[in-house]
Amino acid sequence: MEELSLEFHEMGLDDRMLKALADLGWAHPTLIQEKAIPLALEGKDLMARARTGSGKTAAYAVPVIQRILTSKQTVREQAVRALVLVPTKELGQQVQTMIRQLTAFCSRDVRVADISTTADLSAQKPILMEKPDIVVGTPSRIQAHINAQNLTLSSLEVLVIDEADLLFSFGFEGDLKILLCHLPKIYQAYLMSATLNDEVQALKDLVLHNPVTLKLQGSQLPDASQLQQYSVKCEEEDKFLLIYTLLKLSVVRGKTLIFVNAVERCYRLKLFLEQFSIPACVLNSELPVHSRCHIISQFNHGFYNYIIATDEHELERPASSSQKSQGKGKRKNAGKSGKGKDKEYGVSRGIDFHNVFNVINFDFPSSVDSYIHRVGRTARADKPGTALSLISHSELSLLEEVERTLIGDASDCVLKPYGFKMQEIESFRYRCRDAMRSVTKQAVKEARLKEIKQELLNSEKLKTYFDDNPRDLQLLRHDKDLHPAIIKPHLKNVPEYLIPKALKSLVNPLYGRKQRFRTRGVDGMRSSFRKNFKNKNPLKSFRYAKKERTGKKSSKS
Ligand code: AMP
Repeated sequence: MEELSLEFHEMGLDDRMLKALADLGWAHPTLIQEKAIPLALEGKDLMARARTGSGKTAAYAVPVIQRILTSKQTVREQAVRALVLVPTKELGQQVQTMIRQLTAFCSRDVRVADISTTADLSAQKPILMEKPDIVVGTPSRIQAHINAQNLTLSSLEVLVIDEADLLFSFGFEGDLKILLCHLPKIYQAYLMSATLNDEVQALKDLVLHNPVTLKLQGSQLPDASQLQQYSVKCEEEDKFLLIYTLLKLSVVRGKTLIFVNAVERCYRLKLFLEQFSIPACVLNSELPVHSRCHIISQFNHGFYNYIIATDEHELERPASSSQKSQGKGKRKNAGKSGKGKDKEYGVSRGIDFHNVFNVINFDFPSSVDSYIHRVGRTARADKPGTALSLISHSELSLLEEVERTLIGDASDCVLKPYGFKMQEIESFRYRCRDAMRSVTKQAVKEARLKEIKQELLNSEKLKTYFDDNPRDLQLLRHDKDLHPAIIKPHLKNVPEYLIPKALKSLVNPLYGRKQRFRTRGVDGMRSSFRKNFKNKNPLKSFRYAKKERTGKKSSKS
C-alpha cells in the first residue's frame, strides 16, 4: 500500500518556519525532506543517502531549527546548540544562506554563523563569543577555534555531518576524530552523504546511535527524463574547436559550468574564449575564498553564463584504477599539494549553483565520484539539465568506468554519444588555431598572476567598503577580460560563410525561412520559430536539426 505523503504544514513545524518555506516557494517537501524531517523531529539519529540536489540541506536544517526553537521555550541560556560540519568553504556559505532563509522570521531566536570562510581566527572570535545557536564550518576550522578556546560545544544538541564522503576525500579524517572528543556524551546526529562508502560506514558507527538509514534513491543522478548525458570523442585541439562552436554559435544555451582538471587549463580556456569575446569566469583553489563565494553568488543571480571551474582534488590523487572506483581508495592527500592552493576548495562538491542548464566536462574527471558530483550541479531539485563530456583517447578508459558504474546504478542512466559531426565545423579550425597560438604558456602564467592579484584586491582591501556598500558589490564582475594574450579583433565576429548549414538557423533564426515568411506572414513565422526552438534542450538543437527539417522529431525532444 502506498504511504501517504506528508506536507510541511503537517509536520508540526513552527509557524515562522512554515512562513519562510512558503516564501521560498516550496510547495511540497522533496522525498528526503518528507522522510527525514519527521524522523529527525522524533529525535532519531539519521544516516541519509540521497543524490546531490535532492534538497538534503533543508532536510537537516528544518529539524535543527525546529529543535532549537523548541529548546528555547524552556532553556533561555544562549549556547551553541547545533554544529554543521561541511567539507568546503563554499558549501559552508551555502548552508548558512539556506539556514538564514529558513530562519528569516525567527532570526532573533535562531542565529547561525559560518566560520569556514575567514582565515583570521581572531576576527571570528567575537562572533563565536556570542554563542550562535548554529555553527557551520569545516572540521579543521572548528578544531582550530576549539583549540583557541573561542568555541565550546558542551551544550551541543545536534551534530550534522554534511557530504560525509567528501570530508574524507578532503583529508579531514584526523580533524574529525579529534573534534568528536570535544562533544558532550549525548547529542542527536545526522549524517548526510551522496555515497555510502566504507569510510562513511565507519563514521556512522562512531557518531550515530541506533540510526535510521534512509537510502532514498537507487541512482545517484536523476534519470534520463530529467538529465541528458552525452559524450563526444575529440582530441585536444578538437576540444577547443568544439567548445568554441558550442558557445559562440549558441548551440549551448543557458547557464553552463565547464569543468577542467587543472588551474592552468582554466586560464588557457578562458584566454582562448576571450579571443572570441566570449566572457567566462574562472573558479579555482588559488582564488581567495571571498572571491569564490562572490562568483558563485553572482552566477546564481544571473550575472554570468559561463564558469570555467577546476576540480583539482581528483587530479592530485594518484589515479590508480582501484582508487578511481567509487567509494574506494584513501584520499588523505587530496588537495594538499600545490602552493597557494586552498585545500578547502570544492566547487564540484555539494555546491548549489542555481539553474545550471549544462555541465560540460572539457576534461573528463578522473573518478566516478567526481563525475557524479560534477554532473550533479545540473538537473537539481526538479529542473532539467544536460551533461556533455569531451573525451580524448587517453580519457576513454575513465569514460568506460563511469558508464559501467552508471549502468549498474540505474539502467537508464548512461552517456549517449553526442551526434556532433566534427567535419561540419572544420571551417572554424583556422580561427581556433589562430586563437590558440596567442594563448601561450607565458600568457597563461601572466593571466593566472593577474587574476590572483585582482581578486586579492577585490577580496581583502575592498571587503570593508563592500560591507558598508553592498550594492556596489554587484558592480564587481569576475568575468572581465584578462588580456595577456594578443587579441585579434576579427575573431570576435563569425563570418556568415563559415557557419555550417546545419547551424545557420541557430545563429540566425530567420535563415531559410524567407519562403515561408512570404506565404505565412510575420506571425506565422514567429510561432513556428517558437515551436521549433522553445524549451529545446540546447545540446540537442544541433543534433536534431536535420530530423526536424524532415519532420521527424525525436520522441525525447
Ligand atoms: P540541496 O540538495 O540541499 O543542495 O538543494 C538543491 C536545491 O533544491 C536548492 O536550490 C534548494 O533551494 C532546492 N529545494 C530544496 N528543497 C526544496 C523543496 N521542498 N521544493 C523546491 N525546491 C527545493
